[in-house]
Amino acid sequence: TVLAGGASLAFTLSACGKGSAGGSEDSAKGGTVGIAMPTRSSERWLTDGKSIVEGLKARGYKTKLVYGDDDPKAQVSQVGKLVQQGVDALIIAAIDNKSLNGVLQQAADADIPVISYDRLILGTKNVDYYVSFDNEMVGLIQASYIIKKLGLEDGKGPFNIELFAGSPDDNNTKYFFDGSMTHLQPFLDSRQLVVRSGETELKQITTPRWDGPTAQKRMSSVLTKWYRSERVDAVLSPYDGISRGVLSALKSAGYGSDIKPLPVITGQDAELASVKSIIAGQQSQTVYKDVRLLADAAITMVDDILKDRAPWVDDSTGYKNGVKAVPAVLLQPTSVDKTNYDTLVEDGYFTADELK
Ligand code: BGC
Repeated sequence: TVLAGGASLAFTLSACGKGSAGGSEDSAKGGTVGIAMPTRSSERWLTDGKSIVEGLKARGYKTKLVYGDDDPKAQVSQVGKLVQQGVDALIIAAIDNKSLNGVLQQAADADIPVISYDRLILGTKNVDYYVSFDNEMVGLIQASYIIKKLGLEDGKGPFNIELFAGSPDDNNTKYFFDGSMTHLQPFLDSRQLVVRSGETELKQITTPRWDGPTAQKRMSSVLTKWYRSERVDAVLSPYDGISRGVLSALKSAGYGSDIKPLPVITGQDAELASVKSIIAGQQSQTVYKDVRLLADAAITMVDDILKDRAPWVDDSTGYKNGVKAVPAVLLQPTSVDKTNYDTLVEDGYFTADELK
């Protein structure tokens, strides 16, 4: 089954949740779940970690939560330790999609089920399930926003655009970028959109570790080289931290005035600083992914696996990781801009006060 929207999925998840929480005798058995998250340097992963721990505890599980601080080697050794400590299941958001293969073999030898969280782990048979958002949809949403804001479908243009992508070792990066390009390519072909820098290949535009200052540097040098007598009208950015880096470069180059307005800038994750920037009219848009629901999906899955029930998945063919098709649950992302950011308050993602 492919679910049409976030609401129905949320319903399904909470419905599953109720069904599988079990009686208190079930919960009392529990077990210990190892959770490996990639970094503390971006808000969403803190929310993911906290939500997974709280949700598992509520179902009677013990948890061991570790953060890899964006260092693939550190993450491999953290997961190795969790395996040695004999956890009953692993939930892993990989830093580098391929570096975990060795340690996942150790997990498999110890019969520890593995859930690939948000980012698909590639090149190993030792991943049991995948929970994420529809990553291609994230890219489609960002591109559609740019297309709409520039009026490209009404034939407007030509406009200048620059493209940014995420970390090259994150499997999501390609999905975000391909999703965006599916929508943008026709306008690049018709020259309604022009990339002055000429940097349109994924390998030219990635941002290692999703690092904002790295994106800022690239934007500054692109502006210096290609935009002395031109203006950039849109920037495709896959993530709020990158968007804020790009914004700093633009401001340093004098953008943000009546004669030189800021371009349309997309983003992802609804990070607090970016939502504030959207309210202030700087960053244009972000893609909101309620990671509390993603945590719920992972928890329900772990609970089902450890209680010998077949977890519910919404894509029976699975996500291909190079070795196998991993059964997956995919949630739907939402576009947020100045016109609808109150959704975040209604959902309790932020309080009204936090957005002031
Ligand atoms: C996640 C995004 C996040 C990015 C940087 C991706 O794998 O899907 O939500 O913006 O990593 O942390």
